[in-house]
Amino acid sequence: MAVQTTETPAATTVDLGPASGLSCRECGERFPLGPIFACELCFGPLEVAYDLPVGDPEGLKKKIAEGPDNIWRYAPLLPVPADVATKPNLNPGWTKLVKADNLARELGVTGGLFIKDDSGNPTHSFKDRVVAQALEAARAFGFTTLSCSSTGNLAGAVGAAAARAGFRSCVFIPHDLEQGKVVMAAVYGGELVGIEGNYDDVNRFCSELIGDPLGEGWGFVNVNLRPYYGEGSKTLAYEICEQLGWVLPDQLVIPIASGSQLTKIDKGLQELIKLGLVEDKPYKIFGAQAEGCSPVSTAFKNGHDVVRPQKPDTIAKSLAIGNPADGPYVLDIARRTGGAVEDVNDEQVVDAIKLLARTEGIFAETAGGVTVGVTKKLVEAGLIDPSLTTVVLNTGDGLKTLDAVAPTSQATATIKPSLDAFRAAGLAG
Ligand SMILES: *Cc1c(COP(=O)(O)O)cnc(C)c1O
Repeated sequence: MAVQTTETPAATTVDLGPASGLSCRECGERFPLGPIFACELCFGPLEVAYDLPVGDPEGLKKKIAEGPDNIWRYAPLLPVPADVATKPNLNPGWTKLVKADNLARELGVTGGLFIKDDSGNPTHSFKDRVVAQALEAARAFGFTTLSCSSTGNLAGAVGAAAARAGFRSCVFIPHDLEQGKVVMAAVYGGELVGIEGNYDDVNRFCSELIGDPLGEGWGFVNVNLRPYYGEGSKTLAYEICEQLGWVLPDQLVIPIASGSQLTKIDKGLQELIKLGLVEDKPYKIFGAQAEGCSPVSTAFKNGHDVVRPQKPDTIAKSLAIGNPADGPYVLDIARRTGGAVEDVNDEQVVDAIKLLARTEGIFAETAGGVTVGVTKKLVEAGLIDPSLTTVVLNTGDGLKTLDAVAPTSQATATIKPSLDAFRAAGLAG
């Protein structure tokens, strides 16, 4: 039997643009760029550190404006090589920021309400942003198989990105996901494995696989490539501010699964301030969860720093992570910015999906129902200031979670093809 070895290329051969290394979020220890995710000293999570192009904000704005209409316009701020846009990938991002005046009227918001609609990405969720970063890291480190543990959307995003870039893929999901998510994960031709358990079981399995020869040479986008993966969420912060005319919004409502997206949006906003691309002013970050999987909002409301794991039971399956890795960091950010973490129940999720569809013509998946529902709740509670600018994230497409609204969204009437029948149905005029 051949003996396999894991050889990580020397740090000097890795070109990930402005990324200068990895640093521990707990103790600050620095490491060279590589497929590692935990600090050797304190086991804290690692994140990408940069040599950012400070000192010429106007020049940088111009360079960004001349870039492509996708996330690669921000390549100077991401862990990717400068020529990233020439490589085969799905080019996600630059999704619509919709001014939601009808919804604003309905909620009593007067200061400007926007939906950042990430259902417009290539596989119809925000996950294309993070996978695009992990793919570049996988290329740089010489991996040929892409993998992940997924609550649904990530599996589809990995399958599609791998297909386009010529990688093998093998992805893992809880066996009982919505059909739309399963089909989207399988259709791109990679291997899809259903695990009998919930997401936290899937994630534990993948952590074991990484440490075993069975998983050798695999790039798990949200495990051993997690530091790079996470950086993709910064592009949401960049796009929102650029689309507002290089201005920070006052309030953002962001869904929480592992909490990675929320923490990296905050990191992106901080970078824009440091680079001088936006004027420094206070902003509040609000986290949104489903009541049936609300470990972070429970900790927030109880004033705890530690997030106690839960067993998820909610229709918002894309957010159903009972033991969120970034939970404590989310609590820090919500408290530091003067925001909050709130949750809504499944009925409120469905109502919010239909409210957004009815007012703005946007069909969100359950995660979007969670953010819109939480926004409504926080406006009513007086925690969101209706006179300030608010950006609400819709991170996925309602076509993937049809079951949530199918029971209450059916034909108004079914009739014979005759005018008499239509008149009898009472729908004219
Ligand atoms: C994965 C996901 C999120 C957020 O995930 P984090 O783990 O918190 O980064 C939000 N919405 C949808 C639809 C998702 O699939």
